[in-house]
Amino acid sequence: MNSISLLLIFTITFATSCGLPLSMRNDRVSKSVETRQFASTDTTFSTYVSSFERIAIEKTGDTSFRIGDIPINFGDTENPHFQGVCFEYSDGSKEVIIKKEWWDSADENYRESLLFHELGHCRLNREHDNTLIPSNDGDKKLSMMSAVIVNSNEYSQNKEAYLTELFTKDIQLLLSAFSL
Ligand SMILES: [Zn+2]
Repeated sequence: MNSISLLLIFTITFATSCGLPLSMRNDRVSKSVETRQFASTDTTFSTYVSSFERIAIEKTGDTSFRIGDIPINFGDTENPHFQGVCFEYSDGSKEVIIKKEWWDSADENYRESLLFHELGHCRLNREHDNTLIPSNDGDKKLSMMSAVIVNSNEYSQNKEAYLTELFTKDIQLLLSAFSL
């Protein structure tokens, strides 16, 4: 990467929420109550859990990586704008809640992008990263942790690069993919 492309990178301070893009500002929510809603993960998400763990091991080399005690279930995200949320409770427990109506209407790539974003909060302890890079066909997100969720097309076209960024924060593959 040359210095010119470095200069082109900039960070927006907040994500716009107008229109269709799925914006998830503050979808990492600390709850004052102690008890989470679910004890185990809905079997709908079993394959996604397996994928997340397999890819984490592949990207980080940490063969002991597991999602652990973070149940994933359909339920009330408690915000009409959130299709998914990572709840963190005062006793230290966590869970991911996904809005079923959205899930049923989304394709596989969009589902995985949203769920992995939520696990980015809950399991990888990541905050939002709204870094964008301008390209010939519009600004490109440089993180799976963008508050505006990486959409189905973006994710499917650069899945390996986004997954590398998610687990290692290495944006080199994304920069190469979006180079002018
Ligand atoms: Zn988020």
